[in-house]
Amino acid sequence: MFDTPPSVMWWNGRLVPWAAATVHVTSEVATRGTNVFEGLRAYWQPGERRHAVVHLDAHLERLAQSARLIRLPEAATAEHIALLRTGVGELVRAIGAAQDLYLRPTLYIEQGRYGWRPEKVKLGSYIAGYPADPTPTRPMDCIVSSWRRTPDTAVSPLIKVGAAYQAFRLPRIEAEVQGADEAILLNTRDTVAETGGAAVFLVRSGTVVTPPLADGVLDSITRRTVIGLLRTSIGLPVIERSIPRSELYIADEAFLCGTLDEVRAIGTIDGLSMAAAPGPVTAAVRDAYLAACREGKDGGPASLHLIDTLEAHRATA
Ligand code: PMP
Repeated sequence: MFDTPPSVMWWNGRLVPWAAATVHVTSEVATRGTNVFEGLRAYWQPGERRHAVVHLDAHLERLAQSARLIRLPEAATAEHIALLRTGVGELVRAIGAAQDLYLRPTLYIEQGRYGWRPEKVKLGSYIAGYPADPTPTRPMDCIVSSWRRTPDTAVSPLIKVGAAYQAFRLPRIEAEVQGADEAILLNTRDTVAETGGAAVFLVRSGTVVTPPLADGVLDSITRRTVIGLLRTSIGLPVIERSIPRSELYIADEAFLCGTLDEVRAIGTIDGLSMAAAPGPVTAAVRDAYLAACREGKDGGPASLHLIDTLEAHRATA
């Protein structure tokens, strides 16, 4: 989905041609990856002729937290986030007719070497939006990476900053070299953390387990939603506790969840097959999550921000 860029994107408050949104190669964002970002999904609801953006408020709140944690200037951050909130609707209407979308609202420093003082820093923001591919249903083959998730005392896992994603480059290459789809990272205390884009869940004798935030995981919004769905609609206990590596290999089921991956069963870990993939719990969570996103109403478990795309749809139909 990232291979063919759409013709339009949103940049610093307005829609622009894709090719127009440029910064210099020596800019702070290009040199040190100083950008904080979110990944959003907008599901097309055909019956309603509208898009439903999942947890827009929670994503923008986490964007503000990432900005604060890397000390972006507060007032300028707040201004850009207010613009981004409007920009999501503008971009979805511009590109969205009759298809699911994946959106990347991003806030970055253009000028200012390691800059943080408001008078020294120039912030920019953009939203790139892509037609979303359907998420594959095939269970994933995972490895446990030899690389570690960065601890909170280095670049905190709570910060979605572009530069931090370099720590997932080698694990991803390691997985690919071994013929796997994805790498699960341990933390520096050697217990399970997450992948470079999703939270890890195990099912053990009817109880669902996932690492707590203190074990080096992003405060994933899908993770929160899935925990809520498991406890309420599905009626299973969920425990947030540390998971030793070996427990991965003896779980009844395992799955990943995140905005992009949605809910995906894990089929194998380091070549060992899971007992079931997708097992009954994974299948139930996946169905509940997708129903909440695709067919949900405002105020449902996926907290949908509804964008009426009827006019845009009429224009292209
Ligand atoms: N972990 C990491 C490192 C991620 O980048 C993501 C994607 N944002 C996730 C987990 C899943 O987070 P979310 O459910 O908020 O998309």
